[in-house]
Amino acid sequence: MNNIVENINRIRDELPSTVQLIVVSKTKPVEAIKTAFITGQRRFGENKALELAAKNEQIPNVEWHFIGHLQTNKVKYIAPFVTMIQTVDSFRLLKEINRQAKKYNRIIDCLLEVHLAQEEEKSGLRGDEIFRFLEMPERNVLQNIRLCGLMTMATNTDNKSLIRSEFRQLADIHKQIKQRFFADDSAFCELSMGMTDDYRIAVEEGSTMVRIGSGIFKS
Ligand SMILES: *Cc1c(COP(=O)(O)O)cnc(C)c1O
Repeated sequence: MNNIVENINRIRDELPSTVQLIVVSKTKPVEAIKTAFITGQRRFGENKALELAAKNEQIPNVEWHFIGHLQTNKVKYIAPFVTMIQTVDSFRLLKEINRQAKKYNRIIDCLLEVHLAQEEEKSGLRGDEIFRFLEMPERNVLQNIRLCGLMTMATNTDNKSLIRSEFRQLADIHKQIKQRFFADDSAFCELSMGMTDDYRIAVEEGSTMVRIGSGIFKS
């Protein structure tokens, strides 16, 4: 358990102040999250709606980030409390998040997940899909979501230059989208990229949020 505290403090010391640490607590017991909480950590990432809803009952005052593939029929379980849904990969999902958020009189922050990795099975929108998505006029009627930026997972590889090029691509797409669709919207500013094995590269390429699990909870 002490390792958790040490690992968080070490990583936090290393990150520039412009980068938020999301501690990925998926599959980890509530006790482990509480240990992390004691260090002052408030932002946690989970990738299963029901697991997240159960944990939220047991640990209040956490800022939860959803970071997995979210089925539209599961949005209702997390809509009352989730802070940010980082993995929006369809317009249908965004509309459902909006509908559920409205029920609870909330605004839910969202990131669009972009597919840049070479693995086909990873989810996310592809380059031109994002632009088509943002051009939809219906987007403007979604009053209960706030688009805050982009998220991606790099290819799972030892090839550092490939990883770097994917992060650089995300930063580039972010810049283009910002100029074209969100020039006056200061909320659109987040680049969620970087995990245990690649967060240093991500930070060098402009990440504003790193999502770290095994680097903190390893024994
Ligand atoms: C599991 C997961 C992470 C954390 O990965 P680690 O390698 O354990 O740091 C980050 N992002 C997403 C989307 C994940 O599913």
